Amino acid sequence: MVTAETSQPVTDPTRIGLTKEALKQAFVDNLFYIQGRFRDVATANDIYMAAAFTVRDRLLARWLKSAQHFKESGARTLCYLSAEYLLGPHLINNLINLGILETAREAGEELGLDLGEILATEEEPGLGNGGLGRLAACFMDSLATGQIPAIGYGIRYEFGIFDQAIENGWQVEKSDTWLKNGNPWEIPRPKITFPVRYFGHTEPYQDEQGRLRIRWIPGLVVEGVAHDTPILGYGVANANLLRLWKAQATESFDFQAFSTGDYYRAVQAKIEAETISKVLYPNDEPAVGKELRLKQQYFFVSCSIQDMVRLHLATVGPLDTFADKFVAQLNDTHPALAVAELMRILLDEHGLAWEPAWDITHRTFAFTNHTLLPEALETWPIELFERLLPRLLEIIYEINRRFLDEVRVRYLADEARIARLSLIAEGETRRVRMAHLAAVGSFAINGVAALHTDLLKTTVMRDFHELWPDRFHNVTNGVSPRRFIVVSNRRLARLLTSVCGNEDWMRDLTALRRLESLAEDQGFHEDWRRVKLAAKDQLARWLAAKTGVRIDPQTLFDVQAKRIHEYKRQHLNLLHIVGLYQRIKQDAQFRPPPRTFLFGGKAAPSYAMAKLIIKLINAVAEVVNGDPQVNGHIRVVFVPDFNVTTGQLLYPAADLSEQISLAGKEASGTGNMKFAMNGALTIGTLDGANIEIRDAVGPENFFLFGLTEAEVRQRQADGYRPSDIYHGDPELATIIDLIDSGLFAHGDKTLFRPLTENLLRHDPFMVLADFRAYVSCQTLIDEVFQDSARWTRMSILNVARIGHFSSDRAIREYGERIWKVEPVPIQV
Ligand SMILES: *Cc1c(COP(=O)(O)O)cnc(C)c1O
Repeated sequence: MVTAETSQPVTDPTRIGLTKEALKQAFVDNLFYIQGRFRDVATANDIYMAAAFTVRDRLLARWLKSAQHFKESGARTLCYLSAEYLLGPHLINNLINLGILETAREAGEELGLDLGEILATEEEPGLGNGGLGRLAACFMDSLATGQIPAIGYGIRYEFGIFDQAIENGWQVEKSDTWLKNGNPWEIPRPKITFPVRYFGHTEPYQDEQGRLRIRWIPGLVVEGVAHDTPILGYGVANANLLRLWKAQATESFDFQAFSTGDYYRAVQAKIEAETISKVLYPNDEPAVGKELRLKQQYFFVSCSIQDMVRLHLATVGPLDTFADKFVAQLNDTHPALAVAELMRILLDEHGLAWEPAWDITHRTFAFTNHTLLPEALETWPIELFERLLPRLLEIIYEINRRFLDEVRVRYLADEARIARLSLIAEGETRRVRMAHLAAVGSFAINGVAALHTDLLKTTVMRDFHELWPDRFHNVTNGVSPRRFIVVSNRRLARLLTSVCGNEDWMRDLTALRRLESLAEDQGFHEDWRRVKLAAKDQLARWLAAKTGVRIDPQTLFDVQAKRIHEYKRQHLNLLHIVGLYQRIKQDAQFRPPPRTFLFGGKAAPSYAMAKLIIKLINAVAEVVNGDPQVNGHIRVVFVPDFNVTTGQLLYPAADLSEQISLAGKEASGTGNMKFAMNGALTIGTLDGANIEIRDAVGPENFFLFGLTEAEVRQRQADGYRPSDIYHGDPELATIIDLIDSGLFAHGDKTLFRPLTENLLRHDPFMVLADFRAYVSCQTLIDEVFQDSARWTRMSILNVARIGHFSSDRAIREYGERIWKVEPVPIQV
């Protein structure tokens, strides 16, 4: 803590000063004293580390002050529980939030260093798969910027999401070694550790007051060690805590109690313990019952809840006020065990009776659902659960028993409904339903876009909605304008600032409404197009350097960047491309405006169809780009290793944003928001947040196509037969036949059969049903793009009206409607 005696370090200008001279001095000091290097032998990593420590020093005073103030004021604190945080590079973001980006650039220049090169050295922490993890990162940014006291809890994976390489057109996964050069942003807290139990059995006993209590005798105890990263807000002194847990063995336990001198077994136990935080599970594949994944979930949840209880006892005091001090948001079902874990701690460790413990627990948690895809709903086999977490299962059974009694009385023993609502799915193997645990244990349940929330209420959570309609909320997702405009698109940021007259839009994105008055201004159109062209040029140069592939910034950049998944329908995009290829070759009159099709995205390693789609994209790219008859007209590029860093290049460079999921499948999407914020026009279905984006920017500024969710249901109910569409649409048939012909596979007619056959026989995501509407919409886009004044106007209006999709707004809604938290400003 900062006291009179210890306040000296935080007034040292070399540590905290924001002037150029202070930054230079600090950098030189850090290079010498932390990296132990003279300038002339320093590696790029040494220089990056010295720069990062220079910036971190400046975060620490703000961070410690925030923590101290939150503690003293007893401020209500939001705890965000998320198995994933897809943060993106820290250095640039912190420079911007501190307001010293330009000063740092100048300081670098005077030292003979290029800030751009230093920034490019950072390996991003890829502690997430895609949208869900990125949402958590945007929320951490907006919580700090909104001055809401918050702690983000998660797992410090040693290996994050795999790095994607493309070899011979196929995705190859390489392990992500983000920690190998050191992580200057985190501070390990070896004294903040908690034991986490697994296996073993439970036994009843009588405590001193003669009450019946339960003891869990574990078979394995693992320790979680806190690793803390400060998350600074933009333009404020508030810095929140991101606390990620690393697993390690507890020495006392394995050496004494078990191994009786068996050194190798003890080492084995150590390895087993450390495995828990070793690697992030790639998702987007069926949530199969992997023991290690359940171990991970319990690991971070148990550490986090123990930490919250410790903090509460150390500051506020009695546990009956726990839910006044803390509110905890469950980011999907991955942390749902927190409900049972808080109950366990209150009952077993603090001796509370069930009712008061349940009252506290139920007032603490709120739950965000992220998916309607049935295969992605998490359930765990009872057998595994019982073996790994015996005490938690007992508690879940008791929660369920009491809950179902309530349901029984309410619905007069409606057995079917009871079975549907139960936390336990009956069947061949009985399973624990994590979404039900989260729903029963939470005072609020929310979806992430209006359509998604409506569908939640009528499909997967229907019975819960009938039971507790008032618990349901919608909070449409948002993204951080700092990350996705200020960091990603410096030129656009400068233009927006010059129009607005100040930088206030960076924390109130609705201020961009001012742009509307310039939507017809010819001079402004030129500025706008110059910014877009520069971003396209930057992407083109990066791509040429990285992959050798050349693209022309004058062409229309049509981008689909997101996880590769059948529901997102990258293959619908491909059918359009193959159709264009074929028409350009066969019809000399057919010359739409030149386009560059860019794809980016990772496939889950075990998702064969998604990997085949990547192969087909690359195979089509090889043929199209190698065919001189067409390669002046269309070009296809797969940008490898889509992540936050490459996203920062793609979003600003897009003219057209592909948001073409089958209606009803994409919960919200956030890529759609990032593209629109950067002036791309959207071609999209009425799915997820697309609907609200279209309403906001105006239907005339959005390219809509495709079946509605209601039409999708109707078509499925009527018995959807994709082969009928194939037979009724000769152009579509030609395209599919071309893919089957071996043209894109060096004569191999079988390679893409699994894909085409699936489309013709099942087509679960109704690609063929939407094909014709999609192609017509693309034809309209070609027309509009040729009218550059019209296109530019639409692009300006998209940015002017996208303010609602800032994560600052989303956090404000959570804060007011669900969390009941207030901003607590910190003074520097
Ligand atoms: C925003 C983002 C996503 C989510 O994209 P969607 O288009 O919403 O699926 C996935 N990955 C990364 C790296 C992102 O930045």
